[in-house]
Order: sequence, then structure tokens, then C-alpha cells
Amino acid sequence: MDFLIQNFGYLGGYSIAVLFIFFRYAIFAGIPFVIFYHWRKQKNKAAKIQKREVKSKQIWMEIGYSTMTAFIFAALGVGIYWMTQHGWTKIYTDVNEYGTAYFITSIFILMFVHDAYFYWMHRAVHHPKIFPYVHKVHHLSSNPTPWTSFSFNASEAVLELGIVPIVLMLIPMHFGAVLIFFFISLAFNVMGHLGYEIMPKNWVRHPILKWFNTPTHHNMHHARGNGNFGLYFNFWDTWMGTNHKNYIKTFDAIVARRDAAAVEEARKLFKNGCLTRKIEILSEDELQKTEFSSAK
Ligand SMILES: [Zn+2]
Ligand SMILES: [Zn+2]
Repeated sequence: MDFLIQNFGYLGGYSIAVLFIFFRYAIFAGIPFVIFYHWRKQKNKAAKIQKREVKSKQIWMEIGYSTMTAFIFAALGVGIYWMTQHGWTKIYTDVNEYGTAYFITSIFILMFVHDAYFYWMHRAVHHPKIFPYVHKVHHLSSNPTPWTSFSFNASEAVLELGIVPIVLMLIPMHFGAVLIFFFISLAFNVMGHLGYEIMPKNWVRHPILKWFNTPTHHNMHHARGNGNFGLYFNFWDTWMGTNHKNYIKTFDAIVARRDAAAVEEARKLFKNGCLTRKIEILSEDELQKTEFSSAK
């Protein structure tokens, strides 16, 4: 942002930031969309969380709202630049000032703080008196796609990242760490709205991995409304008892369906003698074993 505003002025810097944020969104959402909803659609059919098709009208609506969000997020960037210029933030530019370990730690700190903030903000915007004015737009997509990631009402777009300038006033953060945080945040966001379950079997039971949310987790939030409020991590939903009661059952069912379809596909290839190198290592017996275990 410094570079943009110093070279192009506030308006020029702001305009470039809007374009940068929009294209970043278009790439992060567009690539998985092309893969899962077009190119490998048939291959990934069994991994689709909700069976019904997404209408193109929904996607254009999501892109429309996300364009507006890019204008708001860019304004936030300009705001952070202005605050930094006036000595209000603790943003620093020399990594050596706090070291590499702190650089990495600060990204995690911002993620944990943002996750806690998001959970409570998200619960608040589900209050019936607030929901229609703030969060309704995001829930117009009951069958989310990667394009849903930035589909917010303007007030929600402000709320989404509202905690970031406050954290930057309190905790020293390298500007590169802030940038990395925004990329990680978007990647998680797109994954949550993917509409396909891509996590391995038993993810939700693994002692560490279960604390990271899955596409099924956020998809259930869009499909059913209440429950599953978390963003990156499952801490707050677990502690507050707000994980949907069928979360694990639903995840297991989708993964079993997906893995059974993959085994069936491998079986067909095996019979036709056109196995890929990866599947070649599975004997007929092993295929049956896999099928049995995924059908349980
Ligand atoms: Zn919600
Ligand atoms: Zn969502």
C-alpha cells in the first residue's frame, strides 16, 4: 500500500488496490471453480456436498457483491496506510527488528485473534434483529461456491476485517506478515465455500487436524443456518457447543460416498487394464478392502 500511495497518490493507490483485491479473489475462487464445477466436475461428483446444481444467477450475484467487497477491503487498506503514516499502528518494515520467528508467530496470532473475533461477530450477525441488515446477503447462497467467499453486504464487509486495524494498533506486525495473513485467510475462505469435501477420511477425529474446519463444516452453516459459526478453526464451536450435531456424521457420509466412488473408478480402470501408475500398486484384493472400509 505504501508503494502504491507514494507513487500514485491516494486515489490511484486505492484504485490499484481495488483491482488487486478483485483479481486475487478472481484467481483464488476461479481456479477451484473451473476445476470442480467444470473441468473435473464429473470426476468429483461424489465429493459434492449438496447434490443440487448451482445456478449461474447465484454465481453472478456472488461476483457482484464480491466486487463491492473489493472496494471496501481496499478502503481498509488505505485506512491502515493512513493510520501507519500517523503513527497509529505498530506495522514495521524490517524483518530483523523482531526476527523471523516472531514474523511467523505474528501471522498465527492474527489468525487466532481473527478467528475468535469472527466467531462472536458471526453469532451476533445471526441475531434476528441484525441478520436482515448485515448477514442476509451472504446467506442468499445456501449452496455456496468459491465465489461466495467475498459475497457480503457492505456493512458485513467492514465487519469481516474490522478487527485487523485494531490488532495492528496493539501488536507489532511486519507488512509482509499482514499480506500473508490476507492470502491465508482467503484460501481458508474459498475452501470453506468450495462445495466439495476434499479432506481425508477421519480428519474430524484426528487429534490435531480436527481443530481445522472442513468444507462440510461451513457448507452445513450455509445449508442450515444455525451452528458451525467458526472460520479457520473449530475451537470456539467446540467450546461453545455450536458444532452442528450431525457435523461428524455428515462429513463421514460424504467422505464415504466420495471414497467409494474413487474405488469404483479404480476398479473400472483395473478391469480395463488402463490403470494409472498410482493405482497400479493396488491389487484387486486391496481394492476390495478399501471399498469395504470406505463403505462402513
Ligand atoms: Zn452465517
Ligand atoms: Zn460463508
